[in-house]
Amino acid sequence: MIRENIMQVLENIAASEPEDRAGKTKLIAVSKTKPVSAIQEAYDCGIRDFGENKVQELQEKYDCLPADIRWHMIGHLQRNKVKYIIDKAALIHSVDSLRLAEEISKEAVKREKVMPVLIEVNIADEDSKFGVHPQDLEGLIRQVSSLKGVKIEGLMTVAPFVEIAEENRQYFQAMKQLSVDIMTKNIDNVDMNILSMGMTGDYQVAIQEGADYVRVGTGIFGERDYGTE
Ligand SMILES: *Cc1c(COP(=O)(O)O)cnc(C)c1O
Repeated sequence: MIRENIMQVLENIAASEPEDRAGKTKLIAVSKTKPVSAIQEAYDCGIRDFGENKVQELQEKYDCLPADIRWHMIGHLQRNKVKYIIDKAALIHSVDSLRLAEEISKEAVKREKVMPVLIEVNIADEDSKFGVHPQDLEGLIRQVSSLKGVKIEGLMTVAPFVEIAEENRQYFQAMKQLSVDIMTKNIDNVDMNILSMGMTGDYQVAIQEGADYVRVGTGIFGERDYGTE
């Protein structure tokens, strides 16, 4: 089933990419709550990028799966847990405060590394969501850009949960525009190479609007069961 799902998602991705972006979208398989066996199955289909939203789960999976997997931290990150994933995550998508960025930088500098991060944007101004509000984005980026141990590579958003993907197009467009706006400011130590947006329900629309990374969980691994934990 996982294999068929991956084939289908890859096909949908290819069909959604604008002509000048053919083959450029990266698929992140969101494996949160799913067992190691399911991740191994996706790995055997060629997937190397996996997304997790809990520190402990990422750590445990990291330890028992192939070393060439790139683990993406896509969930809200508490400062006291940064030290556990600083050597394990390839990219942290969920930086939304200076204090968190400072902690990441501190832990990275200790290990003489630079941690690539994305700034999470609450693009639809939802109370329930993490992320910096669009009007505060440039200010936060300017502050974070001065930290030695982090490198801003782009932006991430979790769009509203909608039945009709088309309703999120406006938010994906707004994210693309923010990314272009920031890029034109030419801030030192800041790149806008990565726009991480689009999930199972709306990744095709996100790609049409310029997503570089899409994060697909349910569409690959099936529904998640949180009930029996
Ligand atoms: C769970 C999750 C996803 C994947 O959601 P699906 O709807 O299952 O594809 C993507 N991004 C983040 C931040 C998530 O927490």
